[in-house]
Amino acid sequence: MERAALLRCSSLAPNRFFYFPGSRSFPLRRLPASAPFSSRSASSSSSAPSTSSRLLHRRRHSRLLRVAASSSSSSSSSSPSFSSAHTDKHFSTLSARAVATPSAPQFSSDVSDEAAEKLGFEKVSEQFIEECKSKAVLFKHRKTGCEVMSVSNDDENKVFGIVLRTPPKDSTGIPHILEHSVLCGSRKYPLKEPFAELIKGSLNTYLNAITFPDRTCYPIASTNTKDFYNLVDVYLDAVFFPNCVEDELIFQQEGWHYELDDPSKEITYKGVVFNEMKGVYSQPENVLGRAVRRAVFPDNTYGVDSGGDPTVIPKLTFEEFKEFHRKYYHPSNARIWFYGDDDPSERLRILSEYLEMFGSSSSPSESTVEPQRLFSEPVRVVHKYPAGDGGDLKKKHMVCLNWLLSDKTLDLETELALGFLDHLLLGTPASPLMKILLDSGLGDDIVGGGIEDDLLQPQFSIGLKGVSEDDIQKVEELILSTLKKISEEGFETEAVEASMNTIEFHLRENNTGSFPRGLALMFQSMGKWIYGLDPFGPLKYEEPLKALKARIAKEGSKAVFSPLIEKFILNNNHRAIVEMQPDPEKASRDDSLERESLEKLKASMTEEDLAELTRATQELKLKQETPDPPEVLKTVPCLQLDDIPKRTTPTPIEVGEINGAKVLQHDLFTNDVLYAEVVFDIRSLKQELLPLVPLFCQSLLEMGTKDMSFVQLNQLIGRKTGGISVYPFTSSVRGSTDLCSHIIVRGKAMAGRAEDLFNLVKCVLQEVQFTDQQRFKQFVSQSKAGMESSLSGSGHAIAASRLGAKFSTAGWISEQMGGVSYLEFLQDLEKRVDQDWDGISASLEEIRTSLLSKDGCLVNLTADGKNLTASEKYVSKFLDCLPSSSSAATASWNARLPLGNEAIVIPSQVNYVGKAANIYEAGYQLHGSVYVISNHISNTWLWDRVRLMGGAYGGMSHFNPYSGVCYFLSWRDPNLLNTLDIYDATGDFLRELELDNDTLTKSIIGTIGNVDSYQLPDAKGYNSMLRYLRGVTEEERQQRREEILSTSLKNFREFADAIDAVKHKGVSVAVASAGHIDAAHKDRPNYFQVKKVV
Ligand SMILES: [Zn+2]
Repeated sequence: MERAALLRCSSLAPNRFFYFPGSRSFPLRRLPASAPFSSRSASSSSSAPSTSSRLLHRRRHSRLLRVAASSSSSSSSSSPSFSSAHTDKHFSTLSARAVATPSAPQFSSDVSDEAAEKLGFEKVSEQFIEECKSKAVLFKHRKTGCEVMSVSNDDENKVFGIVLRTPPKDSTGIPHILEHSVLCGSRKYPLKEPFAELIKGSLNTYLNAITFPDRTCYPIASTNTKDFYNLVDVYLDAVFFPNCVEDELIFQQEGWHYELDDPSKEITYKGVVFNEMKGVYSQPENVLGRAVRRAVFPDNTYGVDSGGDPTVIPKLTFEEFKEFHRKYYHPSNARIWFYGDDDPSERLRILSEYLEMFGSSSSPSESTVEPQRLFSEPVRVVHKYPAGDGGDLKKKHMVCLNWLLSDKTLDLETELALGFLDHLLLGTPASPLMKILLDSGLGDDIVGGGIEDDLLQPQFSIGLKGVSEDDIQKVEELILSTLKKISEEGFETEAVEASMNTIEFHLRENNTGSFPRGLALMFQSMGKWIYGLDPFGPLKYEEPLKALKARIAKEGSKAVFSPLIEKFILNNNHRAIVEMQPDPEKASRDDSLERESLEKLKASMTEEDLAELTRATQELKLKQETPDPPEVLKTVPCLQLDDIPKRTTPTPIEVGEINGAKVLQHDLFTNDVLYAEVVFDIRSLKQELLPLVPLFCQSLLEMGTKDMSFVQLNQLIGRKTGGISVYPFTSSVRGSTDLCSHIIVRGKAMAGRAEDLFNLVKCVLQEVQFTDQQRFKQFVSQSKAGMESSLSGSGHAIAASRLGAKFSTAGWISEQMGGVSYLEFLQDLEKRVDQDWDGISASLEEIRTSLLSKDGCLVNLTADGKNLTASEKYVSKFLDCLPSSSSAATASWNARLPLGNEAIVIPSQVNYVGKAANIYEAGYQLHGSVYVISNHISNTWLWDRVRLMGGAYGGMSHFNPYSGVCYFLSWRDPNLLNTLDIYDATGDFLRELELDNDTLTKSIIGTIGNVDSYQLPDAKGYNSMLRYLRGVTEEERQQRREEILSTSLKNFREFADAIDAVKHKGVSVAVASAGHIDAAHKDRPNYFQVKKVV
C-alpha cells in the first residue's frame, strides 16, 4: 500500500528512482503523498513547504545523504522517498502530532545484561552514536535469532519498526499484497482493518507499511508513550498472527479477485493492490523505472516487481500467498528497531511476549538476496509506455543510462564519496552533468536518480525525457562525453566547497521535516543491516566525512573523484541503456487485452460457475459492508479524551517592526540555525501575469546576475547557506472577500552567517537579470513535462485544484499557477518564448517591480533569542535596500473558472474523481466539528465504499476552512459515476449515522492528532507565520480545539444539510481515461465537458 493522503494515497516512493527535478515549479507533483492539498501554491495549503535547500530539492541522494535530503522535501507530506520502495502502504496521516509527554524520564536508558537475559535476549554490542546523541544497543533474541536495535535518546517522537526480508521470485506482487493484508485483522485484533482504526483514533506521528524490492517495513511513530505501545502491539500482532493467512476474502480484497454482480454482466478484476499498481503502471516514469530495474538486474530478485505487475498479479494463488507469509514472516527473518525517549526495558518486555512463541527457522538463509553478477557487455532495451496522443509523439521518447556499480556492497567511505560525487554531478541545476544535459536542448527534463544505494548493490542512472526519436543516440553520447570530460578536468573548487557545505549543513541540521528522525535513521541503518552488515556504521558519518575532507584537502578533489567516475562508470561494462517509446494506444490496448481475457474466461464458464462467482462476489461485498461488532472494535487499544491536552500549544511569536516592515520573531531552540522567510504581497499584480509567477520564482534562483553566472550564484548559496527557495503562496481568508497572496523567499543558514543569508536574498531578489532566454525556455519545458506527469500521477490533485478554482478566487489563482490552466499556459508560452522573449522578459521585470516594496513586506525569523537579536541588524540592512512604496494599488482579481462538470482525458487505466462545492456560500458557519466529521467521512464512509468496495486506491473528503470549499476525491479509481453517486449519498449517511461513544472518541482523537501535528522548530515558526497571514488568532485556535473536543453526534447529523450542498450545487471534475468517460456518457449523456490537454 502506500502512505495515504490525508488518508490514503500514493507514495513518493515509486518516484524516488525517477524523482523528477524541478518540483519547485510543479507544486502539484508531490501531492499524493499526504495531502492532495499541500501544494505550495494551493490555496488550501496549511503545510510548510520546506526550507528546502534548493539544491537538494530536486533529487534524493545516496543513503548517507538521505536524511539531509529529506529535510528539503516538502511539508508534511514528505518523507524520504526510496528508490526502491515501490510502494508504501497506507499513508501516514497528515503528519506528526505533538502531545505533551512527561519531561524527565523515570527510567534508566540502560538495560542490564541480566534483565535482558531474563527476557530471552543477549546483548550483542552497544555504542554511543555522537551524530544523533543516542545510545544504541544491539540485542539478539536467543530462541529465534531475531535482532533488535534499541536506540535511546531524548527525542519524544518515538519510533518502532519491524522489517522482514521478503525477496520475491516473480511479479505477482506477493510481498506488496501481504503488506496490505496483514493489516486487515489479526489474532488479538480480529476486526476488518485495525490499520484504519489506528488512523482514526491514535496520535501517531507516522503509521505506514512499505514494500521494497527485497524487504517489507512496518514503521510507526508517536510522541505519546501510551499511544506508542498501543501501536507497537497492534503491529506486532498483525505481522506475526494475521487473519489473512486463513481468510481468503482478505487476499481477494487486497490482492485481486474476479467480480461479477450479475451473471448477465461482464466479469472484472478488482483488488486494492491490483488497482494501485494499474495506477503505477500508467505513469511513464514508473514504467521507465521498472524497465531499468529489469535491465540492470536480469538475474536476481530486483529484476521482478515486488509491487506486482497488473498483468501478472492475477496469477497469484492464495496457497502461494500463505506460504510466503509462513516462510518469511518469522522472527528469525525480522529486524526490529526502537528509538526515542521511552524505557528500553519495556521494549524488550513487549517483544519477548511475541518472540517467545516462536522457535528457530530456516527463513534467513532462504531470504538471502543473491547479488547480480556484472555484465561483460553493455545491453540495450527498448520498451513502450502509455502516452497521450496530443503533441508531437516523436518528441516524447525517454532514454536512460544505467550502471550497476559493483557486484558487492561498498564500504562506507566509498559510498560517502560516491554520494558527494552524485551531488557534484547532479545535485543542483548548476551541477555540470545536470546543466549540460538540460542546456543541450535534447530533452525536457532529467530522468534517473543518480546514485541509488539502498539495495544490496548500488547503481547510477541518468537520462532525459521529452527526447526526439532522432536524438536518442546524441543523449547517450552527451552523457558519456560529459562524464569523460569531468573525469579529465575535475570539478571547480567552488563547486566542491558548495557541495561540501550543503551536505554538511543538512547532516548537522538533521531536519527531516515531518518525517520522524528516528525513522530516517532506521532506514539508513537497515540499508546495511538487512544484508547482515553492521547496523551501527550507517549512523556515523563524522569519521568518514572527516577522512574524505582530509583527502580532498591533501590530494585535491580530482584525485578523489576522477578515479571513481572512471572505475564505476566509464570503465564499467555493466551498463544498460533503456529507451522508452511513447505509445498512445498502449493504455487502451492493455484495457482490451484485459477485457478479452475476461470475456474468454466467462465464455468458458458454466452457468453454475457464473452463479458461484456471483455468490462469491456478494459474499465479499457483504463482508465489506458489515461493520465490525462493537466488542471487536473495542479490542483496538485507544486513548481516552483525558489523555489529550485541552489547550493548544502556542508557538512563541513577537510581532514588531523594523524600518516600517512587519517582523515576526519566534524564539525557539534551533541548534544555531537561523530560519528566515521574507514575504511579499503580490496583490498589486496584473491578473494576466499570475501564471508567470512560478517561472519568475525559478528565474530568481536560476538566472544569474550582472556579475555572477547562475552557476556561481548557486555555488555561493551552497557555500554560505543551507539553501534558499522561492515560491508563491495563496489562501482565502475566512470571513472576508480579501485573500492573501504572496511570494515567499525562504532561507536558512548557520546563525553566524545571517549577514550572508540576507545579502544573498537581496541579491536574488534585486540583482538577478531576466535575460537568459535559453534557460527560461528550459524552465518552461521542464515545468510543462512536470505538469504532464502530474496528470497521470496526481490526477486527484489536479482535479482538486480545478475544483478549487471554480469555488474561490484563491483557488483560481492557485490553479493559474499549478493546475490545468497553468499547463495550458505553459504549452502556449513554449511557443511564445521564441517569438516574444523581450515581452516575457519585460513581464518578469514587471512582476519584480510590483512585488518589491517595504510596505507589503513581512520578515519571519525562527531561532533562539540570542540569534534573533543578532540577526536584526541584517534584517534592517536588507529592508533599507527595498523601495518604500508599492507601484500600484491592489489589483482586482475576481476570477473563477466557470461552474460545470469537466472530464480531463489522460492515457491511464484508472481515474481520479472529484466533486466539490463552497459550503460557506451555501450558508455554513465554521465549527470545529467539521474537522472531526470530515475525517470520519474519509475514514469510514469513503474508505469502505470507494476503496474497499469500489476497489479504488483511496478516497477522501477534505474541507478548506479558509475558502469554505468542501471536496470529495478519489484516486486510482476503477469507477467514475459510481464514485460520484457515493459522494452524493454522504448527506444521507450522516443523517442515518449511529455513533457509539468509543467511535466518536476515536474520531476526535484522530482529528486532534492531525491538528497537533508534530513539528520541528522551523515548521512551528513557519506555520505560525501562515496563521498570522491568514488572520487566525490563538483564541480562535483554542476555540476550534474546544469545538473538536466536544463534537457530538448532533453535529454530524446537522452537517448532513451542509454537505448536501455538494450534491445539489456541486461540480464534478474527473481526470480519467477516454474509455471511462465514454462509458459514463452512455449512462449520462453530456454529463462532462471533455477537455484534452495531453
Ligand atoms: Zn500498496
